[in-house]
Amino acid sequence: MRVGADRWLTVRLSDAATRSYTRFVISTEAAPGFLSLGQATARAVAIRASQRQRLGRTFLVFGPAGAGKGAFVEDLLALLLCTDVDRAARPCNACAGCRSARSRAHPDLVIGSPEIWRDGRSTGESLVAAARRWLGGTAGAPIAGERRVILIEEADRAGEQIQNALLKALEEPSDRHVFILVADEPNRLLDTVRSRCQPLRIGPVPRAELSAWLMDHELLPKEQADAVARISDGFVGRALAFSRQHERLEWRRRVQRELVDLLGRGRAERFVSARELLDDAARRAVPEAADVPPESAPALDGAEPPRAPASVQRLAATTIVEAWISLARDLLVAKAGRLDGVPTAELLSDLPGAAMGLGAAPLVAFIGLLEAIHAGLAQNASPRLALEVAMLAWPTVS
Ligand SMILES: [Zn+2]
Repeated sequence: MRVGADRWLTVRLSDAATRSYTRFVISTEAAPGFLSLGQATARAVAIRASQRQRLGRTFLVFGPAGAGKGAFVEDLLALLLCTDVDRAARPCNACAGCRSARSRAHPDLVIGSPEIWRDGRSTGESLVAAARRWLGGTAGAPIAGERRVILIEEADRAGEQIQNALLKALEEPSDRHVFILVADEPNRLLDTVRSRCQPLRIGPVPRAELSAWLMDHELLPKEQADAVARISDGFVGRALAFSRQHERLEWRRRVQRELVDLLGRGRAERFVSARELLDDAARRAVPEAADVPPESAPALDGAEPPRAPASVQRLAATTIVEAWISLARDLLVAKAGRLDGVPTAELLSDLPGAAMGLGAAPLVAFIGLLEAIHAGLAQNASPRLALEVAMLAWPTVS
């Protein structure tokens, strides 16, 4: 064990009383190679390019949000900035090049994005002018090593004029400059930009592999790792967000359990539940909304407690409706007997039983209604009314 190494071993302790988690970080000697999960093809292409010494001028790392592009880019930066004399051993994850690449502090690493250009504008300067100025500044010689690495995040969010300026920069011949473009949606890049890139696609990882990795790296118990791997469709970034926001997952599970429970309840109980779910979700959306200082609390006994602002209530109702839609879809799939494809089946043991008592047609109609409510919430519908409408339409099993 050694402090300051690149690979972190995370140990998570659970406090059963408060359900809060504390993270302890212990650093270990780093193993060489890529540290991100899966992506065998993208990895092989990048390593082959690096070993040939004649790198393509530009890499395009693309994949949907939450796919795990960030971790892959980190590996790619280490690969390109590693100084190990044995090229086949790169990234060694031990040299200063690897370490400063991974912490994004390497002197030959230049990072840009539409947001960075926007924030870096001088007075009166347009975004396009700021991006052009930034691109001009990337042309300098490397300071510490063989090459300069120019990383452009959210490249697909840059407008056409900026992309044209970028194209000019990409067309300048140089062995000492490598560009890495990162994009959620490569289709938003100009064809002329895209055609100059070596594409590196970041896709889903097989569930079993992702689950094993979550047990290993996030120290999740097997059952939970399997559930998270399913829920995130094999995308590493999403899986990490879920496993690190354990409480969010727990809350979603609780809401879905309550909704299954309400299938057997009447109108009055459903309305009480709608209100409680909404209040709970609003408190979670804005934790400080729950901690109103005593002096600002209403003076009259029995008065209503202060309500969360409308925007928070709408956000809260939206998250409930989203959990509800996924539950209703899962019930429909469970009805068809295909439990294997149902994420919630991992979370709710009574799902098949609940599904049996429901008709497929009412479920389909209900999902349609929830989708309309979801859209309505985005258009300023009343959150409380929206949930009450859904509660009335939620099928009943006797
Ligand atoms: Zn290295």
